[in-house]
Amino acid sequence: MTGYLLKNCAAVITDEGKGPSVRRNVDVLTNGPRIEAIGEGLHRGELPAGTIVQDADGWFVYPGLVNTHHHFFQCFVRNRAELDWTKLSVIEWLDRIYPIFSRLNEDCFYHASITAMAEMIKHGCTTAFDHQYNFPRHAGKRLIDRQFEAADLLGMRFDAGRGGNTLPKSEGSTIPDEMLETTDEFIADCARLIDTYHDTSPFSMRQVVVAPCQPVNCYRETFVESVSLARDRGLQMHTHVGEGESPVIEARHGMRTVDYLEELGFAGQDTFYAHCWELTHDELRLMAASGTGVSHCPEPVYLVGAQVTDIPAMSAFGLRVGLGCDGAASNDNSNLMQCIHSAYMLQCLAASTRAHPVPAPADFLGYATTGGAALLGRKDIGRLSPGMAADLFAIDTRRMDYVGTRHDPLSLIAKVGIGMPTDMTMINGRIVWEKGAFAGLDEARLAADAEAALATVEF
Ligand SMILES: [Zn+2]
Repeated sequence: MTGYLLKNCAAVITDEGKGPSVRRNVDVLTNGPRIEAIGEGLHRGELPAGTIVQDADGWFVYPGLVNTHHHFFQCFVRNRAELDWTKLSVIEWLDRIYPIFSRLNEDCFYHASITAMAEMIKHGCTTAFDHQYNFPRHAGKRLIDRQFEAADLLGMRFDAGRGGNTLPKSEGSTIPDEMLETTDEFIADCARLIDTYHDTSPFSMRQVVVAPCQPVNCYRETFVESVSLARDRGLQMHTHVGEGESPVIEARHGMRTVDYLEELGFAGQDTFYAHCWELTHDELRLMAASGTGVSHCPEPVYLVGAQVTDIPAMSAFGLRVGLGCDGAASNDNSNLMQCIHSAYMLQCLAASTRAHPVPAPADFLGYATTGGAALLGRKDIGRLSPGMAADLFAIDTRRMDYVGTRHDPLSLIAKVGIGMPTDMTMINGRIVWEKGAFAGLDEARLAADAEAALATVEF
C-alpha cells in the first residue's frame, strides 16, 4: 500500500495523547495504514517511494469519527409516516415496527449495511460499530457475516456488536417470536463470530463486541453468559440502558437497570451502554466508579421527547462518553458529524436545568473521536499523531459556509455544523471517498441494488 502526503493543510487536529491541539500549515504523511509524520514542510524532504502528494490548501483535517451505536438494518424502515414518534407511544411504536423488522431477509441486512456505512463515510466516520440484534428465523445466521462483507466493500473499519433477544413476549418482552433466540444459540453464534472475525492486531479492521439487545428483552442468564464469554475472550460488551426500562427491571428484579447490570458483572472498563437518559446522578456515579462508558445518541432524544441525557453530569463525574447515531428507526440518518452539532445544541437547550456546566464545544468532537475509540477498547484510532491509524477526513474551508469560523477548528463542527459531505475520507491509509465519489464504486448502482433488495420485502 502506498502513502499520501497531504501538502500544506490549513489546519490539522492533532493529539499526542494529552488532548487535542490545532496545528496550522502543516503536512500529513501516511505510510500504509498508519500516520508517519505531521509537520511543516515535509513535502520538501525525501518521501518514501510511491508517496502520492495531494494538495491540501484550505483543508481542515480531522481524526476520523468513531460511531458507537447504530442498527444498520433500520435504514430500510426510514421516513415512514405510520411510524411517526409524535403520534405513537413507545409501546405502540414497538408493536408496529418489530413485525416490520422481522420480515427483512439476508440481502436486506447486507444492503442496509452498505447504505448506513456509505452515509457515515461521506460524513467523516471511519469506524462503525453496529448493534445487530435482529435475527429473524427465516433470515438465517449469516447476517453479521454479510455486514463484514459490506464493510470490506466500502473499506470501512467495522466493529460488529452481536446482539440478540431471548425473552418471549409471553414473559413480558416486546419481541415477536420470529426474532427470538435461545441463550445457547446467541452465545454459540457470538463464539463463532469471534473465532471467524475478531482481530486484535494493530489497525484491525474487524472486531466483535458481545451485545445482548437489552435487559428488558433477555433472560438474566443471557447477560450472565455474555459476561462469561466476553471476559474469557477479552471482548467489549454493550447493551441498551436507561431509555425508560428501569421501572420494568425494578418490578422484575427488585432493582433498577444499572444496579442489575452491576450485580451481573455487565459493567466495567470493557462495557458501554447506549442512551442512559433516565439515569440518576447516583447511577451515573456508580458507572463512573466501575469505568462503564456511555454511547450518547442525541437524535433519538429529540424524537422521543424523553429526558435530555445529562452529559454535563456525566462529564463532571468522569464518565467515559462516546457518540452514536442510533438506528435509523429513531434517527432517520446515519450522519455522525451532524450528531456532534445536535448533541451540543441539545445540551445548550437544557443548560438552565443542569447542576453542572455544558462541556466545551470541542469536547463533543472528542466524544466522537477519542471517546468512541476508548469505548471500543481501541488505542490505535481516534486521534491523529505518528503511529496512529491513518483514519481522517478533510473539509475544504474555502467556502462561504466557513467565512468567519476558521479561527477555531476544534469548535467548528459542534458550533457551526458541517452541512455537506467531506471532501475526502481516508480509512486505514486508503482514500475511500473523495470529490463526491466512493473509490472504485458506482454509488448509483449501490443505491439501485439496495432499493431492489428493499423491494423484495412486503411491509
Ligand atoms: Zn439502539
